[in-house]
Amino acid sequence: MKIGILSRNANLYSTKRLVEAIEAKGHEAKVIDHLKCDIVIEQDKPTIFYKGEQLSDLDAVIPRIGASVTFYGTAVVRQFEMMNIFSAVESQALVRSRDKLRSLQILAKAGVGLPKTVFTNYSKEVDKLIDSVGGAPLIVKLLEGTQGYGVVLAPTKKAAQSMIEAFHSMKARVIVQEFIKESKGADIRVFVVNGKVAGAMKRQGKEGEFRSNLHQGGSGSLIKLSKKEREAALTAAQAMGLPIAGVDMLQSERGPLILEVNSSPGLEGIEKSTGKDIAGNIIKYVTTAVEAQRNNPSKRRKIKSNA
Ligand code: ADP
Repeated sequence: MKIGILSRNANLYSTKRLVEAIEAKGHEAKVIDHLKCDIVIEQDKPTIFYKGEQLSDLDAVIPRIGASVTFYGTAVVRQFEMMNIFSAVESQALVRSRDKLRSLQILAKAGVGLPKTVFTNYSKEVDKLIDSVGGAPLIVKLLEGTQGYGVVLAPTKKAAQSMIEAFHSMKARVIVQEFIKESKGADIRVFVVNGKVAGAMKRQGKEGEFRSNLHQGGSGSLIKLSKKEREAALTAAQAMGLPIAGVDMLQSERGPLILEVNSSPGLEGIEKSTGKDIAGNIIKYVTTAVEAQRNNPSKRRKIKSNA
């Protein structure tokens, strides 16, 4: 098989590991920078040109789309889908996962535990808003933030008030969230592949930091999940329609609380913390899915028009 990895940088750990895993299984890998793809829209003949050449001989693509290029990246994935090339993650699921508010709504509906969260455009009722998530300390999150940037802890009601007002006056969209203090600066990242847990790690923020993101200096270690944590991760990934997902959760007194579900989760932290071949697991899922569709074309994913 020939498998394309949609990645802007062939030297990234995750990209290199996927290439290695593809080749280790005797397949061919091609790293494609999605921003250098031209999408040709023509009646009944969707095509993609990459650096001037038509891309037509791929069996599957694995999207590794950064949050800053979601619009163009997902358009490229959609075009591959139109060309009947299997995508490890559907374009619609990618788009959905990039909207934090919409994701929380979907997760709430799926019945998984979540920190209590409020979103509002109405800044005059800030006081009530703060009370509705249990008062200070609380968390304010920019809807557009990633990797822990844009997540702030307001220690007092006064601080929370001025923070929310400042964000609103800047027209920045924020959510206000209950602070889960018992998680003590740690969270759990569960890597899900095809409805199973491929690996899990606990991430601990550096001294004095409530954010556990590895980008913020946090460190990962192997963790054995409880049954509830495992179930929450699998339910969350499934509700988001993501066969490959990085599910982040906090451990709280009332059980696991899902923070978010990442659709292009990094491989470095999880492979190094768990010692597992997650890249190999992803490639196994992709090749098996492509073969299953070939043997039974009616199983081909339908392209839905609603998101
Ligand atoms: P990002 O998408 O930017 O990583 P997250 O919502 O995952 O944003 O938050 C970053 C980190 O901040 C989390 O990994 C967690 O350690 C901490 N955190 C986020 N929300 C809460 C919360 N409600 N209570 C306690 N800690 C939190």
